Amino acid sequence: MTRSYDAIVLGLGGIGSGAAYWLARAGQRVLGLEQFALGHARGESDDHSRIIRLSYHAPHYVRFAKMAYEAWDTVERESGEQLVYRTGGLDLGPADGAIPVSLYAQSMECEEVPFERLDAAEIRRRWPPFVISDDVHGLYQSQSGLVAAARATATHQRLAEHHGATLLSNTRVTQIHPGSDEIVVEAGGERYAASHLVVAAGPWSAGILSWFDVRVPLEVTKEQVHYFVARELDAFALERFPVWIWMDDPSFYGFPVFGEAAVKVTQDAGGQPVDPDGRGFEPDDDILARTRHFLATHLPSAVGPARLIKTCLYTLTPDRDFIIDTLREHPNVSVAVGAGHAFKFASLIGRVLAELSVEGKTSLDLAPFSFDRPILHMSQPPKNYLV
Ligand SMILES: Cc1cc2nc3c(=O)[nH]c(=O)nc-3n(C[C@H](O)[C@H](O)[C@H](O)COP(=O)(O)OP(=O)(O)OC[C@H]3O[C@@H](n4cnc5c(N)ncnc54)[C@H](O)[C@@H]3O)c2cc1C
Repeated sequence: MTRSYDAIVLGLGGIGSGAAYWLARAGQRVLGLEQFALGHARGESDDHSRIIRLSYHAPHYVRFAKMAYEAWDTVERESGEQLVYRTGGLDLGPADGAIPVSLYAQSMECEEVPFERLDAAEIRRRWPPFVISDDVHGLYQSQSGLVAAARATATHQRLAEHHGATLLSNTRVTQIHPGSDEIVVEAGGERYAASHLVVAAGPWSAGILSWFDVRVPLEVTKEQVHYFVARELDAFALERFPVWIWMDDPSFYGFPVFGEAAVKVTQDAGGQPVDPDGRGFEPDDDILARTRHFLATHLPSAVGPARLIKTCLYTLTPDRDFIIDTLREHPNVSVAVGAGHAFKFASLIGRVLAELSVEGKTSLDLAPFSFDRPILHMSQPPKNYLV
């Protein structure tokens, strides 16, 4: 027997859970299929926190980020839960750093987002734990902060179910039969049909897309975050310390105390390529050593024993831009790939995927995130993972 729905969401990580919520909220009969337990730690989304910020390298990302805050506002209002914590955010680095701070400033100016330019002395004055030389400069944006990631995903799932969605855990999709009116999906020994399919498969995206004969150059890397029991933990309290990004190569980022009695710091995109099914969970000592070295140099009071190290996957496009699009040959299939910086947008991307499914269009400009962009069709695309 085949059970029928309006939409099937394949993958219930951060983005798929968002899509299930927005689809169910729009009155769709939704089935969400997740191969592991809900809230599992094998994909991209699990942890206490993810950075959210308006500060981005291109105006379209700033516009997208503004809408991301609005989407979370809706979820917070409906659930009664605080999911976004505005700690303020600092982008800092050497004047000639590999990630140009000036682009971030220009993008925010272009979108009329207020921010402050800070020199090294002012950064040291406001946040004494930073040990930086005079050539370091930064941007401060007060709306930046963190999303309580694991809780946000669970909240999307809870609200989706409240709106009537069926969410099945430990149910791996093993076959997809595309069709213009109806897509049939086999999962957990059952067959399910729907007029629309949303693919939010994170690190497993390339395998799922190959069922549709779509190939994109995605690289899955194993990343990790470290929770250090800082020598002076009080200085990093949520009300006192911002989220921050070191704008150089290697790039590091960190959080105030949240979720653990510790400071979370790591290197961005410092991990090695892995197979999402064959990966291990052991920490990478090189990333740990690079992070410790950075802390010893620039945030020595955050140095301390690692209370927790969590590994996690990135699914990277060569330009590190998202994919949010429908398939050209199968317009009833919409896809999102988060490129290692999408949690802040998880609810918004979920909303966009729901609009693509229900209305066949969205008012957001998805051109920068399209399958058609040339870099996704190069045999050896140049990679730039620094954002
Ligand atoms: C260490 C780390 C730090 C990060 N920091 C930030 C940050 O500060 N800010 C930010 O915005 N973003 C950040 N990101 C990126 C962000 O977390 C991801 O972009 C986002 O979580 C991607 O969500 P997703 O739903 O696409 O992937 P996932 O959460 O991996 O979800 C995909 C789901 O699909 C399921 N699935 C796959 N195949 C099948 C199948 N055949 N059948 C059924 N289910 C299937 C998987 O099991 C999985 O649950 C970070 C990521 C990592 C790893």
